[in-house]
Amino acid sequence: MAYDPSNIFAKILRSEIPAIKVHESAQTLAIMDIMPRANGHVLVIPKAPSRNLLDADPAALAGMMADVQKIARAVKAAFDAEGIMLAQYNEPAAGQTVFHLHVHIIPRFAGVALRPHGEAMAKPEHLAEHAAKIRNALAELS
Ligand code: AMP
Repeated sequence: MAYDPSNIFAKILRSEIPAIKVHESAQTLAIMDIMPRANGHVLVIPKAPSRNLLDADPAALAGMMADVQKIARAVKAAFDAEGIMLAQYNEPAAGQTVFHLHVHIIPRFAGVALRPHGEAMAKPEHLAEHAAKIRNALAELS
């Protein structure tokens, strides 16, 4: 299926709607997920348009994953997480709901279950606090 530029992440990339930003590079924008599965749940969104992994340019994927690694390290440090889970869904049958490629970065702790995918909105002030912690960790790690 063709890429539709009216999706919500394309609007965030064009600054048409707000987002709580964590990091921006030449190739990606990282924002807080508004329905986090755990505190510190970040989305890394490539600036190059693609619907998902399946139609993405391999060079854009490589650039995106370099930023995913950088932000995953910062999320782990900021939340003192025991592990980091990545998630990336392709097409509705696999759970994709926003049709612009993105990678979920989710801090994990042994024995702690995740909140359900896309169910409960977080308070903006909590997301802003979490984003600040991750930005501080990024600054310390760089
Ligand atoms: P999926 O396409 O299944 O990978 O999920 C899309 C993700 O985007 C979900 O985890 C949503 O909570 C999240 N999301 C949807 N709209 C926004 C938004 N405006 N800002 C930040 N995250 C969003």
